[in-house]
Formats: sequence, C-alpha cells, structure tokens
Amino acid sequence: MRHQPRKRFGQNFLRDEGVIDSIERAIAPKHGDHVVEIGPGEGALTRAILASGCQLDAIELDRNLITGLLAAFSIHSGFTLHSADALKFDFSSIATPGRGLRVVGNLPYNISTPLIMKLLAQKSLLEDMHFMLQKEVVNRLAAGPGSKNYGRLSVMAQYYCHVIPVLNVPPGAFKPPPKVDSAVVKLVPHQTPPVDVESVNTLERVCAQAFNQRRKTIRNSLKDSLSEEEIRELGIDPTSRAEVLSLNDFATIANAVSAKEHQQEQ
Ligand code: SAM
Repeated sequence: MRHQPRKRFGQNFLRDEGVIDSIERAIAPKHGDHVVEIGPGEGALTRAILASGCQLDAIELDRNLITGLLAAFSIHSGFTLHSADALKFDFSSIATPGRGLRVVGNLPYNISTPLIMKLLAQKSLLEDMHFMLQKEVVNRLAAGPGSKNYGRLSVMAQYYCHVIPVLNVPPGAFKPPPKVDSAVVKLVPHQTPPVDVESVNTLERVCAQAFNQRRKTIRNSLKDSLSEEEIRELGIDPTSRAEVLSLNDFATIANAVSAKEHQQEQ
C-alpha cells in the first residue's frame, strides 16, 4: 500500500523494518490475544501484528486508506476494520468478557493525550497499551519527582498505570519524517491503584492547581483548598514545590481536600 501522507491526519508512516520488528517484539502479540490498532495507516504494524494469529480490530479515520487496508488484510479471519474516529469509538462494543483489549498505535500526535485519557477512563476493558508518541510526552508520562519532566500528566498516568518506556525512534524511521523524536511506551493499567484516593476528580484538580504555577510553593498554589497549617498536619512541607511531591503526597492532599469539602457541605 502506498498513499500520499496527509498532514491533517497526523500521517507519518513507519518505514524502518528494524523499528517495526522491535515494536512487534515489545507488544509480543499471540494467538488468542485481542489487539486493537489505532490508525493502521498503510498497515506497517498491522502486518507484523496479524502474523501472530491474534484477533485484530483496526480503527482508521482516513477513508482513503480503507480500500487498501481491506485488500491487504481481509484474508485474515481475525481482522476487522472500523472506518471511524478512535476518539469517538465505543471500545466496550468490541470487548469480550475475560479478555482484556491490547491497544496499540503509532498515534497521530494531536489525538494522543485525549485518546489515552479516554482509554484510562475505561481501564477495566484493557490488558495493556503500546503507543508511539512524541519522545517528550513519553518522558513526561514516566518522570518521577524532582525531574524537570515531572508534572500533572506523570502523576495521573502513574496513578492509573505502570509506565514503561520501550524504545526511542528517530525521525528517519518515518515517511515523511516528523520534526521531533518519537518513543514507544507501554502502559499497563494497575489492577488496584497504588494509592487510595477518595475522588479521582479531586486528585486531578489538586494536581492541576499545584502544577499550574510550578515555581510556586504549594502553600501558595493550594491556598484555596488547604491552609498552610492543614498541609503541615498531613506531614507535608507547605514550602515545597509540586515538582518534589510524590503520587502518595498528592493522594494525601487530595483526600484531605475531599474530607474538608464533605465537612463544609454538612
Ligand atoms: N500505523 C501506521 C504506521 O505506523 O505507519 C500509521 C501511523 S500515522 C502516525 C497515524 C494514523 O492514524 C494514520 O493512518 C491516520 O490516518 C490515523 N488517524 C488519525 N487520526 C485518527 C483518529 N482520530 N482515529 C483513528 N485513526 C486516526
């Protein structure tokens, strides 16, 4: 299949066979797996994954690619193509009980964050995810406290999943080459969350407030939610900045905010 790449669909097609092999080995699809590929494009990864004999549902937005994908892969009995927008796709409609979906994709950069957030909100449907993203986004997902890449995305991603960077991919592996480096990341949803959080919405809100002005101390950035004294009582230094707080610290703060809000409602 060869197709004129279209920028508005974020089309940078993988052409490097070595990189395609490495991604396939990282995913390690096997017979009996149910894989969902977002944006199969010209089918570079599709071909490698289908060789395992797994069931594969592919979701492609660009209608100009549909005929070629059907011609290339309909011969595989486990292949189903959905001509659809992955951001609007109902993943529960293809899931079967007892078999988690293995979602993979060399994602168009503009949909990566909303798509990951949408999937994490339905994480009970998932076994794992492998995504090619901008390297900078992978660094942010995997960063820990004290790193310059650590932020709201790191805390929320690590609350939901185990984040495992898999490999770096240079621009030359794609046609056309993107302007930035890329990397593949594996995300495995936690069976049980690593910290107890009463309200995930409150955790998100607290992270957003704390990292919004990352140079400010949390005494300042969280002042609308907790007083300096209330933060100190949690065993957290109110003069610290968001970038040094762990997921556990954010969970402690979020639970204190939830408790205070419940009290105020009564
Ligand atoms: N998987 C192919 C590869 O590695 O060569 C193509 C990757 S290309 C970066 C992204 C693919 O996602 C394109 O085929 C594009 O048309 C498709 N795409 C873009 N937005 C999409 C969306 N919202 N839903 C599903 N597919 C989308």
